[in-house]
Parts: sequence; structure tokens; C-alpha cells
Amino acid sequence: MLFEDLKLIDPILKALKTEGYVQPTPIQQQAIPIVLQRKDLLGCAQTGTGKTAAFSIPLLQLLYQDRTQHKEQKTIKALILTPTRELAIQIDESLAAYGRHTGLKHLVIFGGVSQNPQTDALKRGVDILVATPGRLLDLVNQRFISLDHIKFLILDEADRMLDMGFVHDVKKIIAKVPSRRQTLFFSATMPKEIQQLADTILHKPEKVEV
Ligand code: AMP
Repeated sequence: MLFEDLKLIDPILKALKTEGYVQPTPIQQQAIPIVLQRKDLLGCAQTGTGKTAAFSIPLLQLLYQDRTQHKEQKTIKALILTPTRELAIQIDESLAAYGRHTGLKHLVIFGGVSQNPQTDALKRGVDILVATPGRLLDLVNQRFISLDHIKFLILDEADRMLDMGFVHDVKKIIAKVPSRRQTLFFSATMPKEIQQLADTILHKPEKVEV
């Protein structure tokens, strides 16, 4: 299978060509069509399987299509939660690469650094926000961020977020996101606690395991 067989739009295909990607990985082959059908997804996949592109590519496509249909406001439309600064930066770099021809704006925020550059960037408008839970909640509580217009929620490495003690922050964040949304949930392992969290936030998810 080739990326060209996945019903992707030209701005994305062009970017993938630049990246030198030809064949989607197994998680990408399975996940991309599900996300493009606007279904919720429960993905069991480790880092290194290509899971970042598996959610980033269809997310960029849906946002691009939504935007060309009805010109929308300067609101955050997609939120990607991830446990560490390193992962957050990696995801943001992937969005930059795959989304280079979409004109969509993305921003990464994480703790341990001054919040001023992050709040300045937020004021300029962001379509996709990549965040670690603690800093996100801080900025939401200070009203620098509104989650009222989120249409896509992605939890990356959910098991690690729980292991790192972010469960309360994650639950508080999810409670502030509209319930009418598409949710993608990724975890390398599916212990009972993770399955329960997935059950509470996903709506009739399709399951993908690699
Ligand atoms: P991830 O599992 O998302 O951390 O991705 C692992 C690595 O594989 C990253 O360096 C990606 O740039 C690369 N990658 C992801 N998908 C593909 C693909 N379809 N073809 C070639 N490289 C890929």
C-alpha cells in the first residue's frame, strides 16, 4: 500500500513526498482511514511504529478541509496531550513537516520554561495545540487558553501520562473539552486503569493494535 491509496489531499501528499515517505506503516494504514471517517480511535502502539504520523496526518487533513469549507475563528480546534516535553516537541515537528502546505498553525507548550513566549504565541492564534498536562492546566486556569472550541482531542502515550502521575490533570482537562468531539487515544499498554479511562472518554471507538 502507498500513501496515495489513503485518500489524502494534495497538500499532505506533497509534504510526505518531501519527507521521503512512500509506504504507510501498519498503524498508519489502519488508523488513517478510521480518523478520516471521523470515528473515535483506540490505538495500542509503541513509539517507533509511526503512530505520530498516524494521528497527525488525518488530523491535519480534517482541519484543512473544515477550514476551507467555513472560514473559522482564531480558536484552538485540536488538542494533543502528551506526557513529556520531548514527545511534545517531536509531535510539533511532525505537524510542521506534514502540515507545511496546509497553512494550519500549531504550537507546543510544556512546563519548566517561562510561560511568556507561550502566551504570546497563543495570542497570535493556534489551530492545533500540543501540550503536556501540567502547563496546559496552568494556562487554562489563568485564562490564556480556552478549550471551548476543541473538536479533536488526542491522548498520546496515555499509559505514561498515568505512570507519571498526570491522571488528575488529564481528567480535569478532558472535563473542560466539549463532549461533541472526535477523540483519539493511544497507549503502548492497556492495563485496566487505561481501559477504564478510554471507556469514559471514547465514543464507539474503532480499535487498532500493532
Ligand atoms: P513515531 O512512532 O511516530 O515516533 O515515528 C517513528 C519514526 O518513523 C519517525 O522518525 C518518523 O519520522 C518515521 N516515520 C513515520 N512514518 C513513516 C513512514 N510511513 N515512512 C517512513 N518513515 C516514517
